[in-house]
Amino acid sequence: VVGVDVGGTKVLAASVEVAGVGVAPTVLDRELEASRADTPEVLERIEGALARLLARAEVSPSAIGVGLAGFVDRSGIVRRAPNAAGLVGADLAARLEQRFGLPTFVDNDANCVAVTAHHTSAPDSSDLVAVTLGTGIGGGLVVGGRLLRGANGFAGEPGHMVVVEDGLPCPCGQRGCWERYASGSALGEQARTVAAAGGAPGVVRHAGSVEAVTGAHVTDLLERDPDARWLFDAWCGHVAAGLANLLVLLDPEVVVIGGGLSAHGELLGRLVTEHLDRRFPAAVQDREFELLVTPGGPEAGAVGAALLGAYQSS
Ligand SMILES: [Zn+2]
Repeated sequence: VVGVDVGGTKVLAASVEVAGVGVAPTVLDRELEASRADTPEVLERIEGALARLLARAEVSPSAIGVGLAGFVDRSGIVRRAPNAAGLVGADLAARLEQRFGLPTFVDNDANCVAVTAHHTSAPDSSDLVAVTLGTGIGGGLVVGGRLLRGANGFAGEPGHMVVVEDGLPCPCGQRGCWERYASGSALGEQARTVAAAGGAPGVVRHAGSVEAVTGAHVTDLLERDPDARWLFDAWCGHVAAGLANLLVLLDPEVVVIGGGLSAHGELLGRLVTEHLDRRFPAAVQDREFELLVTPGGPEAGAVGAALLGAYQSS
């Protein structure tokens, strides 16, 4: 199966061998192309990467899966994608099917994370929640062993659950969305707010200036700066608050956290669990679930898209 990960600044297409459930898929070949997803030329970049990859393939793939950050409706048309505006309105699946003659499936990248986690780490679970903590928060829900799509295809968007009524404004038009508090970018914003008031001097020194502080500067210093540790712990509390809502709503067997912060997965998992246990009893009492922080990695998006293609075409 071929998986395509459409990021904000690059397109990665990969040939992926998908073995049985519970077996990690193997990347056989890849094609990386720099591309700005906010311009219409991203379509040509995707086609170019696929054409070169398929020309080299020894075996004809069975399907193409495409993952991107955005709202993709049930027919595979991209409806909203703040970081991939060049694809909005495009019937990407039909266009690629016509060009390459392979069944093609386009979906939200967090749905790809959910499918990957289900396939690789938790094949026996019937109910799974996956969230990705990056620029925003993405989500994918497996319910009864199948990806939950919803009436319009937009199910599993926990980033825009309101966790603070009349809270911080969100680009989606609401206030108080979970991703304004618990995304990777929110960690940076919280650190800048503290730094602007004269706090976290070690983090500011590491970043060079208050304005330059990002979430990565905080996580870089987790082992040696108490302020960084405190900021990260407070942010984990925001992560736990949204997860508590998902736990009471869906009662999943497995909760997966993916995204750019998974390099600190062990600490993230531990602090989030502490917040859940201490502050959200209704979410955790009498519920058995496993919290997994997935390693991610540069090819995880393309592998997830390939699995999604395999999953949809089977
Ligand atoms: Zn929002």
